[in-house]
Amino acid sequence: MSQPAPPPRIHYYPNKMGRIVLLSLEETLGRNGLNAVLNLAGLHYLINNYPPNNLDAGFPFDDIGAIHQSLEEMYGPRGGRGLANRAGRACFKYGLREFGPVLGISDLAFRLLPLNMKLKVGADVLAVTFSRFADQSIRLEEDPTSFRLHIAPCPVCWGRKTNTPCCSLAVGVLQEGLYWVSGGKNFMVEEVACIAKGDPACTMQVSRQPLD
Ligand SMILES: [Zn+2]
Repeated sequence: MSQPAPPPRIHYYPNKMGRIVLLSLEETLGRNGLNAVLNLAGLHYLINNYPPNNLDAGFPFDDIGAIHQSLEEMYGPRGGRGLANRAGRACFKYGLREFGPVLGISDLAFRLLPLNMKLKVGADVLAVTFSRFADQSIRLEEDPTSFRLHIAPCPVCWGRKTNTPCCSLAVGVLQEGLYWVSGGKNFMVEEVACIAKGDPACTMQVSRQPLD
């Protein structure tokens, strides 16, 4: 007799991270735009009612996936992903303010490291932050020209099915993080695999060499 399949595990972000995602979307879409997206996603309970700023695991991945789904329904896949990318950049800014002091990356010692060391330490810190504070593991892989971050499970595309990689919010977080770490340089960040299109992880490929 075969056992019934266990129910799928529910994953959560800490409230603080859910709050950061909503504040960043509000900054990008405006309050009315975000309210419309939340309405369409069936998340009325979040309208003017963001999660508290604490580390309790209270913000389900389902909600983050649903928000991205309705972003694309409202603005089209291209428009929605562009907005998610901008919101991701804002997430890094809010996230740094909340988590930077705890993680030591706001310290002078970090700022004085050479760029290639900063990239390495920054990528490690990012992986540790999400594994420690959220229900999300990030595995880092590197070669001489690039870093690859393998994200699984991924809240951005949670519960979604798409034909092309769709985790633009995560790409934006990385782009802004690299911009900050390098003191104002832009790097190529590309999502080369995505769980929503059937891959085992969402994989972000980051060139070590800045574009400018
Ligand atoms: Zn994803």
